[in-house]
Amino acid sequence: MTNKNILKRTVALLLCFCMLSGTLVSCGSKSSDSDSASKAESDSTVESTKGDDIDIDAYIASLDPGLDPENDADAVPIEGEDDMSRASFAGDGNSSLTQFTRISPYRSSPRNHKIDTITIHCMAGQLSVETCGDVFSKSGAMASSNYGVDKDGRIGLYVEEKDRSWCSANSANDNRAVTIEVASDRYAPFAVSDAAYKSTIKLVADICKRNGIEKLVWSNDKNERVNHLNGANMTVHRDFDKNKPCPGDYLYSRMGDIAEKVNAILDKEKK
Ligand SMILES: [Zn+2]
Repeated sequence: MTNKNILKRTVALLLCFCMLSGTLVSCGSKSSDSDSASKAESDSTVESTKGDDIDIDAYIASLDPGLDPENDADAVPIEGEDDMSRASFAGDGNSSLTQFTRISPYRSSPRNHKIDTITIHCMAGQLSVETCGDVFSKSGAMASSNYGVDKDGRIGLYVEEKDRSWCSANSANDNRAVTIEVASDRYAPFAVSDAAYKSTIKLVADICKRNGIEKLVWSNDKNERVNHLNGANMTVHRDFDKNKPCPGDYLYSRMGDIAEKVNAILDKEKK
């Protein structure tokens, strides 16, 4: 292995994102140990303050970059558009359901593939959309998502839909997917609030409608998901890193329900 490849491999081990709360480690773990997943699942030993009262620096230090090291070793953050003032920004090619906008420098612009996939993540922390935005804009975070949904069901925009987020540790996926981080408990099964769940469904339906995704299809077969077979157009972070529990079993077990509810909205609006 060349030094560069060793570096890439090392970075690969850091991947996965899924945020955190408190000093939390997200759905990811920086450990390369074989038990890293179980450690992440049971990371309740990590001391954390409640809710939004987090130490962002500690959070960032524990955050895994959302890049695919095999393809993104040269990805460079785009500075200069951390713009909280453009309130109307969200309406321009993005969801009008957005209630908070803070564009992250950790993105690739523009995405290189048409949007045809939805990837829902868990934050592994009950972060507000504002704190999530802070995290994604903080120096060294090297991670982002297109949207975030907090426990109150509020929606944040961090990477415009036209751009690729650094979220799922897979360049190809994030180039075609809209990624959504949903506030969750920071311990397994990473449950989310009813408000967050309902808001996520509304957001996904809106994304599908505007991007011409007529039907959302979940498959319990990973091969179908990652290869987009039989119409499958939902992926999960764990598809791309088996050591990561993201999106957590709570959301993972409900992906079919999410698809069903989104499709009901889409069908209703077609009539
Ligand atoms: Zn994730």
